[in-house]
Amino acid sequence: MRCALVADIHSNLEAFQAVLADLEARGGADEVWCLGDIVGYGPDPRECLRLLRQRAGAAVAGNHDWAAIGRLDTGHFNPEAAAACQWTAEALQEDDVAYLAGLPVTLRQGDFTLVHGSPREPVWEYVLSTQVARANFALFDSRFCLIGHSHSPLLFELDARGACLMHQMPGQLSLAAGSRFIINCGSVGQPRDGDPRASYAVIDTAGQTLRHYRVAYNYKVTQEKILDAGLPPRMASRLSLGW
Ligand code: ZN
Repeated sequence: MRCALVADIHSNLEAFQAVLADLEARGGADEVWCLGDIVGYGPDPRECLRLLRQRAGAAVAGNHDWAAIGRLDTGHFNPEAAAACQWTAEALQEDDVAYLAGLPVTLRQGDFTLVHGSPREPVWEYVLSTQVARANFALFDSRFCLIGHSHSPLLFELDARGACLMHQMPGQLSLAAGSRFIINCGSVGQPRDGDPRASYAVIDTAGQTLRHYRVAYNYKVTQEKILDAGLPPRMASRLSLGW
């Protein structure tokens, strides 16, 4: 089965559409799996939710999804993120709220555990070091864990000898060896690794290969929408820089 992995769409419709078009051009996928933060920051929460609900075979909730439906206090968000969250909460309709409220925080799909943050703290924890990754490898029993949240494409490997390694996400990776992996496919709608292109991945579960893709999109359209909506201007400027 071919599964497309998307994370941190953050209400960026142009980036999400570009990723889905790129996916189709590469032969499509049997399922789309979403690693959370569908909404927050961007100007098109409802359209992104509609598109995701048409396509997603599996999805988990992120901290921004919870904040937008009042399940999480935004007191610890920075002021601009909190303002964007408030804007999103007002934009969502009843069916959007019901969908987000129904998303699990952890989901098992065969050999894969899906969470937004980490198995230890599914909505909150950032996995950005081998120390944090190692602690989390002990907390899920599938071979693979798929995550989002940091907006950075990264790969953590626990090899057969018990060594924990961190890798930049390669363009292509064979998953057939005896290692276990925590995989972050990067962010669709707000990349933060210095590359403004949308990030996603495709896993072929039969062939056990992972392919990571970057997709250029017209972020100027998204930036204009952000400013027109009265969202914080920094939400627009960061899209051209990828941070
Ligand atoms: Zn996010």
